[in-house]
Amino acid sequence: MGKLALHWKILIGMVSGIIFGLVISSFDWGKSFMLDWISPLGTIFVNMLKLIAVPLILASLIKGVTDLKDISKFKKIGIKTFSWYILTTTTAIVIGLVLANTIKPGAGIAPETVEKLKTTYLQNEGLQNKLKAAESQQDAGPLDFLVDLVPDNAVAAMSNNTLMLQVIFFAMFIGISLLLIPEEKGKPIKDFFDSLNEVIMKMVDLIMLTAPFAVFALLSTVIVSADDPVILQKLLKYGMTVVLGLILMYGFYMLMIAVFAKKNPIWFMKQLAPAQMLAFSTSSSAAALPVTMERVEEHIGVDGEVASFVLPMGATVNMDGTSLYQAVASIFIMQVLWPEGLGFQNQLIIILTALLASIGAAAVPGAGMVMLVVVLDSIGFPKDLLPIGLALIFAIDRPLDMLRTTINVTSDATVATIVAKSIDKLHDPKPKEWNDELKL
Ligand code: ASP
Repeated sequence: MGKLALHWKILIGMVSGIIFGLVISSFDWGKSFMLDWISPLGTIFVNMLKLIAVPLILASLIKGVTDLKDISKFKKIGIKTFSWYILTTTTAIVIGLVLANTIKPGAGIAPETVEKLKTTYLQNEGLQNKLKAAESQQDAGPLDFLVDLVPDNAVAAMSNNTLMLQVIFFAMFIGISLLLIPEEKGKPIKDFFDSLNEVIMKMVDLIMLTAPFAVFALLSTVIVSADDPVILQKLLKYGMTVVLGLILMYGFYMLMIAVFAKKNPIWFMKQLAPAQMLAFSTSSSAAALPVTMERVEEHIGVDGEVASFVLPMGATVNMDGTSLYQAVASIFIMQVLWPEGLGFQNQLIIILTALLASIGAAAVPGAGMVMLVVVLDSIGFPKDLLPIGLALIFAIDRPLDMLRTTINVTSDATVATIVAKSIDKLHDPKPKEWNDELKL
């Protein structure tokens, strides 16, 4: 096992986690054993990744901005990045809408199934929490997202993993100000953050040594906590529509990498695989971020200046998988509960709101479903049907979350690579000797 590449080890961990989860759920004591003894290992791993996410954003962004040396370059990267983000997300939403309208996943759902899902999930604590979280989103004013971007307390912003955009704002503010003062005055701070960045990248390597075991714990926990397979089967057509859309997006990224980055797309996906697998296992782009950065910089060859800006930003702002899912889910819910709302105009509104909702969604598990409420609200979906709408898709949300998060991370890495190529910042990667392996 020592010589095996990291992505193979993680894959083995994932597959054996799934098998173990399936086997152990057949015992009465299986679920409580898992939750007591195995799942904490996964939680520790995710905590470690989250632990380094904020210092990583701070250090790498400050290093990235100051390495650029002049602000006009920063503007150029910013404009390119956002144009690509909007392009890929809009493509994802349109694919989602076209698939949902042609496959019509809601058409075959019998009234008894709706009733069953309603009785099973309407009072579910997780669902109620999502509705509550969505309520606070709905009360927001039009410019609130700009207000939310600017922290009033840097320490408070750094103490909350869902406030990453505020940390990004603060880091860029420091980086830009550093560029504007004489170089020798800023050097101590720049050196400090350069060094911190190195240390954190090494922490990623160390954490990744435990990844194969952690994904085993994470996936076996997902399996024992999964819902009744009979219910999942009823939602199969809906789930498959989302999955088909995500597969098309995967193909789209491969094409973009071949055409715009002039790299072999299979090689690209192979280099990125460990980050994708972590996104899949944790359902969180934020937790996967440190690994995404490491893979994109050290294994794909994107310069730190580009990766440190494009990837943290992308983790919170660019969510193609989430927006595609929101498009399919809203059409599915309408097909079942509110077919009169399926007009062309509403679908155009979905393009815009799913774009905004995916930008606003936090990079944590289940955030896409909370923001789905905002999408449905924007087209005037009846308020009393909203909880029922969410109850319809709740059972299958976790597996779809795992898949859409994988696509979210893939999209960020694709855009980082294309932007880097366009400004001559994509080089041959130089993976470090003991990057994947700790040779003591
Ligand atoms: N879990 C997703 C992410 O972290 C967001 C979502 O779609 O729920 O990227």
